[in-house]
Amino acid sequence: MAYLGNPAKTAEYLKKYQFHFQKRYGQNFLIDTHILEKIIQVSAITKDDFVLEIGPGIGTMTQYLAESAREVTAVEIDKSLIPILHETLSAYDNVTVINEDILKVDIRALAENKNHGRPVKVVANLPYYITTPIIMGLFESHMPLESITVMVQKEVADRMKAGPGTKDYGALSLAVQYYASAEIMFMVSPGCFMPRPGVGSAVIRLMRYRQNPVFVSDERRMFALIKAAFGQRRKTLVNSLSNAAMLSVSRKEVTEALEEMNLRPDIRGEALTLEQFARLSMLISF
Ligand code: SAM
Repeated sequence: MAYLGNPAKTAEYLKKYQFHFQKRYGQNFLIDTHILEKIIQVSAITKDDFVLEIGPGIGTMTQYLAESAREVTAVEIDKSLIPILHETLSAYDNVTVINEDILKVDIRALAENKNHGRPVKVVANLPYYITTPIIMGLFESHMPLESITVMVQKEVADRMKAGPGTKDYGALSLAVQYYASAEIMFMVSPGCFMPRPGVGSAVIRLMRYRQNPVFVSDERRMFALIKAAFGQRRKTLVNSLSNAAMLSVSRKEVTEALEEMNLRPDIRGEALTLEQFARLSMLISF
């Protein structure tokens, strides 16, 4: 069986199938065995695990996942990769490839069917153009989830870890920190991919909390407030929330809620902690 994680083998398969990289799908394939081994190691997969892989490409990491996990389902949007995956994964009877857009898959139903409600591990070298909707979709699906170990653009990894008052802090930071503990595991240079991406990468591991770190009566309301607050991040919170088309909340209500929380009336959303957004969502009705 041929492992693919080196430049020569990857090039051989691409040539054999006359595959052309599609920029619009964020296709940068891993060609470094050392990095592949490190991803498998930090994702802590065991033979008990069901793993969801997003974007298997030609199956480079899928081979490693198949050898470490009980079962793997890999969702790939590009149909021209399917015949390649058919060949490169033919030695494994524990891999299912689904030719779909991950943003359209009912991942909760998939996890239920494949893993009977037990927590899933997600491992992926993500397509960078849709990192945020993928991560948000995984959390918001409320599928049983244990961990997400993913390669992302370095700046996005920094945003996931950012705290209030920093330029990187935003809706993604708050969502990740509400659902999971985040740890940047290691950096990956552009030379480890074919073709080389124009940005640096990092592998980040998100461990889903069993219990969220703050109490909130309605998650959706809190995230609606967060999205509105960061939609116009240079404005004061009073302005951005009262102007937001997706909310219907008055200046008076926001001002009174801030007063109740002992916060200044001219505070910006970027200064609020997760706890403060949670509290605010319970003080404002919309
Ligand atoms: N896992 C492979 C590797 O490490 O070599 C490929 C990673 S590449 C960065 C991202 C992969 O995601 C590509 O195979 C791309 O076609 C696929 N992809 C892009 N958009 C997708 C989507 N919406 N749903 C599923 N797969 C997608």
